[in-house]
Amino acid sequence: MEASKPVLLTVDDDPGVSRAVARDLRRRYGPDFRIVRAESGPQALEALREIKLRGDPVAVLLADYRMPGMSGLEFLEQAMDLVPRARRALLTAYADTDAAIQAINVIDLDHYLLKPWEPPDEKLYPVVDELIGLWRAAGDKPVTATQVVGHRWSARSYEVRDFLARNSVSYRWLPADEPEGRRLLEAAGLDETSIPLVVTPDGDSLVDPDTEELAAKVGLATTPATDFYDTVIVGGGPAGLGAAVYAASEGLRTVLVEREATGGQAGQSARIENYLGFPDGVSGAQLTDRARRQASRFGAEILTAASVTGLEARGSSRVVRFADGGEVAAHTVVLATGVAYSTLKVPGVDRLTGRGVFYGSATTEAPACADEDVYVVGGANAAGQAAVFLARRARRVTVLVRGDGLERSMSHYLIRQLRDTANIEVRPRTQVAGAAGDEHLERLRLRDTVTGAEEEVPAGFLFVFIGAAPCTDWLDGVVQRDDRGFVVTGPDLLVGGERPPGWPLDRDPYYLEADLPGVFAAGDARARSVKRVASAVGEGAMALQLVHRYLEAQ
Ligand SMILES: Cc1cc2nc3c(=O)[nH]c(=O)nc-3n(C[C@H](O)[C@H](O)[C@H](O)COP(=O)(O)OP(=O)(O)OC[C@H]3O[C@@H](n4cnc5c(N)ncnc54)[C@H](O)[C@@H]3O)c2cc1C
Repeated sequence: MEASKPVLLTVDDDPGVSRAVARDLRRRYGPDFRIVRAESGPQALEALREIKLRGDPVAVLLADYRMPGMSGLEFLEQAMDLVPRARRALLTAYADTDAAIQAINVIDLDHYLLKPWEPPDEKLYPVVDELIGLWRAAGDKPVTATQVVGHRWSARSYEVRDFLARNSVSYRWLPADEPEGRRLLEAAGLDETSIPLVVTPDGDSLVDPDTEELAAKVGLATTPATDFYDTVIVGGGPAGLGAAVYAASEGLRTVLVEREATGGQAGQSARIENYLGFPDGVSGAQLTDRARRQASRFGAEILTAASVTGLEARGSSRVVRFADGGEVAAHTVVLATGVAYSTLKVPGVDRLTGRGVFYGSATTEAPACADEDVYVVGGANAAGQAAVFLARRARRVTVLVRGDGLERSMSHYLIRQLRDTANIEVRPRTQVAGAAGDEHLERLRLRDTVTGAEEEVPAGFLFVFIGAAPCTDWLDGVVQRDDRGFVVTGPDLLVGGERPPGWPLDRDPYYLEADLPGVFAAGDARARSVKRVASAVGEGAMALQLVHRYLEAQ
């Protein structure tokens, strides 16, 4: 029994303090949690490795800030790799609070606690309660809960892992050609041809499941709880999450519908450095995970693996249709569907996608790139960030750019980081002409865009970031879109001062409103929007103000 309790781990180099924290924690949390105590960072990391091996979940880490050898910050940073879902708090003396505040950004610290923490009822327990609440809300499961058996170079195995990771579902990855993976396949009466195999926490075996089935079986909500809402938000990137936080916090009945994983493009960003309030940058996954928790906490319903395929007006209701035929109605709709990556149209690439060729998935695949030669295609910020991130593990990263350089397409701070990273090379005037390999990517054909000369290079990984198109095809004929498919809103709908054809109201469309009243667009999917996290969040929040104005006038 004891072994399966989630863990609260505390580390402090002063044995007296360490014992006292553990004692106070045990007093309140002992019945439900296993309290683990360590007296140094390395000792605590070792304990975490053992706990992980046993498959026990780790809920909270409490680390002393000043410890010889490895500071509390260093420990928490390294612990993040081992137990990324555990909530983190630092124990500090009053004099160290500045450092602790900085750490909130550097290691995404949840809290800092001042020593002494007496009386614990006032100073320690409320904080630990909140940390446990956050951990529970994120739906952490024991790491052994979901198991995925597959091949490293199987595109479907990759898609399943990427889906679980992006939805913050813990899973164990078991290669099908290793003993543990083989055993699991045998136990399910299957062989290596039946991959990916997903074994759910309830023991169900799913062979190559589709996303809806997978989502439902690992506990993600996929269908709405009711059939009418104040607002339906389509898309769970920064714009949709921003809208959901503001809608739910202001008491609107809100459902957010996301077809893959909340976070959108931002969730795939290795490090966002220009978002307000994070001077040391923040990983997109952390930022958007916080936003998702925040929206849920305010009461927004979040559906995952639910793709919206239609929108229509039925009287004053706005009805949204799902790919599975279901529908949901609301007073208002916020379109926050963002953009999807453009694919590289050269021979060999389609067949090798997910088997060495990846779109926007640098963070999921980075560990596999250790000591490999990696290619990144693209000249904008997404490509730059991926290159910097991958360079930490890869032997060499080559950034392929069609134009003369990066100055016109990439932020200055990133160009500088590329220049300052020894194992990154930027190759201007170069494009990918072809990709080849049997099981997985092995070679790339590169073409000089000026001379046309071609060369073949060995390559195991290619990450593609070559622009994107709006996810709005399903809105054809429903709302006005521009020639590239972005949703036209507000003043842009007025031509020569005239309201759009068929506009039924005696007022102009609001700033983010489409030509169907009560339907708003926010973020990258909107025509003329600034393609940035901050502006997407801002537009999401602003759309909600306009939703209120619309509802008041009804
Ligand atoms: C790798 C990378 C790094 C970046 N780095 C930065 C950075 O450092 N700083 C910065 O400011 N910006 C950065 N950006 C840009 C930034 O991420 C985007 O501007 C921002 O995410 C746009 O937010 P959004 O919510 O409008 O759209 P998206 O983030 O595109 O989210 C849209 C969501 O809608 C979902 N969706 C689409 N269609 C449907 C449908 N029919 N039904 C249900 N759901 C649907 C999608 O699955 C997606 O999750 C980066 C982008 C990338 C790709």
